[in-house]
Amino acid sequence: MNSAVTTSPPPIARRGVLLVLSSPSGAGKTTLSRALLEGDPGIRLSISVTTRTPRPGEVDGKDYIFVDRARFDAMRAKGDLLEWATVFGNSYGTPRAPVEAAIARGEDVLFDIDWQGAQQLSEKMAGDLVRVFILPPSGSVLETRLKGRAQDPPEVVAKRMAEASAEISHWAEYDYVIVNADLAVSIEGLRSILAAERLKRERLLGLSQFVRDLQTGL
Ligand code: ADP
Ligand code: 5GP
Repeated sequence: MNSAVTTSPPPIARRGVLLVLSSPSGAGKTTLSRALLEGDPGIRLSISVTTRTPRPGEVDGKDYIFVDRARFDAMRAKGDLLEWATVFGNSYGTPRAPVEAAIARGEDVLFDIDWQGAQQLSEKMAGDLVRVFILPPSGSVLETRLKGRAQDPPEVVAKRMAEASAEISHWAEYDYVIVNADLAVSIEGLRSILAAERLKRERLLGLSQFVRDLQTGL
């Protein structure tokens, strides 16, 4: 056998995947995001700006970029946000520059954003977007998780439970749906989605050249 046959070819250049996770609050987006990011150096998290107060343990610049209203409005007015929305009375937005830079480098970006943000990205970046909706297995499990997270006062938990049905109503706007019952199964599902989307022919910008070179060598 020719030794060249066993040599790996250089990676084929591709466009990055923009992987959006949405769910009602407490269904498990943050947990699934962290697990995906920890096990996969090829995808980075889009860190949103928000006017919400930090929860205990949240780190500025890592979980969110925490800003005041004036700063948020200035960013929005300058066009520095790719999308933005008001959720539970606070403003959230995706800084544009890091996403555009990552896509240009062919890197994948993970977004933990709500349905309003997913809709705006669908209008602006449809070809790059993969949308995943996370559902809780039941209403009682959702409530248990919101309470168990022990980061929000009871009135905030009640508000998030009241909003859950409206958020869930957007499930059909997504490309994939994961019912997050068993965490390990959900993580495996999410990794599989990303693995398959990375192989989509349309994303593999270098594929035509690769095939031409391949044919030349036949
Ligand atoms: P979200 O980011 O969607 O608001 P979180 O990831 O913060 O939700 O999850 C809410 C709570 O539920 C957390 O305490 C988390 O540890 C827990 N949780 C998430 N997924 C599961 C699961 N599959 N099984 C059990 N607990 C889970
Ligand atoms: P939390 O306050 O629990 O961190 O987030 C509340 C909601 O805001 C979640 O549904 C989360 O996905 C959403 N969210 C967080 N960042 C953004 C963002 O940049 N844009 C949009 N549209 N939603 C966001």
